[in-house]
This record gives sequence, C-alpha cells and structure tokens, in this order.
Amino acid sequence: MAGIYIHVPFCKTRCIYCDFYTRTDMSPRHNYVSAVCREIELRRDYISSEVVKTIYFGGGTPSQLSYGDFQRIFDTIRANFTVASDAEITMEANPDDLDAKYLETLRGLPFNRLSIGIQSFDDNELKFLRRRHSAGRAIDAVSLCKSSDYNNISIDLMYGLPNQTMDIWQRNLEQAINLGVQHISSYHLIYEQGTRLYRLFKLGDVKPVDEDLSVQMFSAMIDSLSDAGFQHYEISNFARNGLYSKHNSSYWLGEKYLGLGPAAHSFDGQNRAWNIASISKYVEGIGQGNPAVETEYLDKNTGYNDFILTGMRTMWGVNLVVLESRFGTSMKDYCMKNVRKYINQGFVTNNDNVLKLTREGIFISDGIMSDLMWVE
Ligand code: SF4
Repeated sequence: MAGIYIHVPFCKTRCIYCDFYTRTDMSPRHNYVSAVCREIELRRDYISSEVVKTIYFGGGTPSQLSYGDFQRIFDTIRANFTVASDAEITMEANPDDLDAKYLETLRGLPFNRLSIGIQSFDDNELKFLRRRHSAGRAIDAVSLCKSSDYNNISIDLMYGLPNQTMDIWQRNLEQAINLGVQHISSYHLIYEQGTRLYRLFKLGDVKPVDEDLSVQMFSAMIDSLSDAGFQHYEISNFARNGLYSKHNSSYWLGEKYLGLGPAAHSFDGQNRAWNIASISKYVEGIGQGNPAVETEYLDKNTGYNDFILTGMRTMWGVNLVVLESRFGTSMKDYCMKNVRKYINQGFVTNNDNVLKLTREGIFISDGIMSDLMWVE
C-alpha cells in the first residue's frame, strides 16, 4: 500500500507565518495541472505498482483548483495506478473557498475527507496571521461541509500566538469541539526564517509567547480534547472514532508515498526525494520528460533516526523488534541504553517491546528523541 501527495502551490493571499512553497499568481495553473498529469505518467513506477490507499491534495490552497483541474488529475491517477476502493482522499481547503457553490462543484469528485485551515476562531488573531477568512466564515464552512455529507472533517488550529491568552485559547478549543469535527491538528506558531512574521520578530515588533504559557496551552489542549472524546494519536494530532489521518500516519509509519508538483516530497521505502521548488522550472523539467527531482540516499544511521523520530511521535510508538530487524542489534542496544533513564523516570514505557511516550514524556519529547538519535 502506498500514498500519493499532490502539492498545489497557489494561494489567494499569503499568511504572515507561512514558509511553504506557494505563489499568489494563479496564471501558471493550467500548465501546472498538465505537468502534474505528465509527472504521474513519468514517475508511476516510483511506488512499484503498490495499491494506492491515500491521495492527499495539500498546499498551498488546493481549494483554488476547479472541478476540471481535479478531474484531469484524478483521471490520470486512475489510468496509472490501482486505487483502493476505500482509499482516503483528502483535500486541504481554505474556509473562505468552501461556500455552497464550491461544495456543489466538488460533488462528483472522490474526496471523502476535508482538512480545513481554520487556525483560530478569534478575528483579531486571524487578522494578525493575515488569514483571509473570519471566524464566522470558518464556522459556516464546517456546517456547510457537514450538510454536504462530509463526515470526515479535520480542522487546523494554531496556538502560542503573540498576545494569545489562556482564555482566548480555551475559547478556540471549545469552539473547535463544538463544531463536531472528527479530527483536529494543532501546531504551535513557529517563527520560520524568511517569513514576514520572522522579520517582525527580528525588528522587535512581535514578542513570542512565554514558554511556560506555551506548555500550559499544550496541556490544556490535551485535556480539553481528550475530555471531548478525541484520541491523542500523534503529538499534534487528535482523532475521534479512530478517524486518524491515514495519509499522515503512513508518513509516520514509514510507508511509501509519491509526491507530485513543485516542492513535493517522496519516499520509496528506502530514500527520500523532493521536487524543485519553482513552478516554472518544474513545468519545464516535466515538459522535457526530465522531472527536477533531488534524492537523498539514506544510510542506516539516518534511517534509524527517522524511525525513532516518526515512531516516538505517535501512540503506536517504536517497536523494538522491528527496529532490531531493520537496523541490527547494536542499534537496538544503543536505543535501549539511551532510553533507560527516561523509562526509570516515567517519561517512556516499554510494554511488549514497544517504546511509547507517557503523558509527562510528551512535554519533553524533543529532548527524549534527540537523546535516542544516533550521532556520528
Ligand atoms: S493558506 Fe496555507 S499555504 Fe497559503 S499562505 Fe496561508 S498558510 Fe501558507
């Protein structure tokens, strides 16, 4: 089983914190869609005839594409891959795009999961982040999606914003819970270099939230969402009724995926690869039958580090039997030597040869994972 990721590099406007590869000029859209279809044909062997169990349109803003754009890409996928009948097919969408008219155009397309970038239910925060929707629009969008029979809806939230108080964050969490969605992804704001937010931070015009408050917000999120019936299955992800993101879980479980479109990443089970982050160069390379893909060949140590990093983030943990069979007894011993103190302190459990973070361990997960990683 494998996954397909399609990066849609267009956004109507640019958010203040965003460092994803995306452009506000939509004029290359037609050429982009043609190039994605051609890339599917050129790279169909990458996942070696495995059945496709997840398809994920991410971005950027996939909800800037039209019915016809999606139709062309889906037709090409079906012509080149076997897609499982119960495949999870996700579209990331901006709340502003999800009006009744657009949802009507989505009928007839095979999406069965929507991931909506809401980020906050506070209009001042949304303005600060330069999101183009309001809180009211986001609430309406979710309600419209539900009445259009989407019953696997995920929303994104963001916390740790400058000037965000615990009260505002609690209200955001309550509103998110009240929407009755099946999945919530929630990330702390990061000051990525090259973004407008980073420049404001360097100029002293915004002040990052206090670290203690960040921890309190993270803790409140775990408590509120767990009390509301969400399972905390990955450090930043919560699901109800077992509706985990199958696509993202396949990344964390080390399965193969083919990334299409500019800046998309791929993994063939052994090595990582990524497409060039430029629409024009991407379209040009594909046009010449020569996708501009760079590959990183993973040695055993890097593979081990990836295995630790992805496994420890999830509720499925790190399986020591699998670790030993893939990376050898010496790596397993190395892992056990370094994890022992965390087990003794109650930050990690080892049940049936599976290492997992405890609730206390989640709060120091970065330190634990870095201690378990192999350093030359
Ligand atoms: S909508 Fe998403 S991808 Fe586009 S600029 Fe905002 S954060 Fe970035």
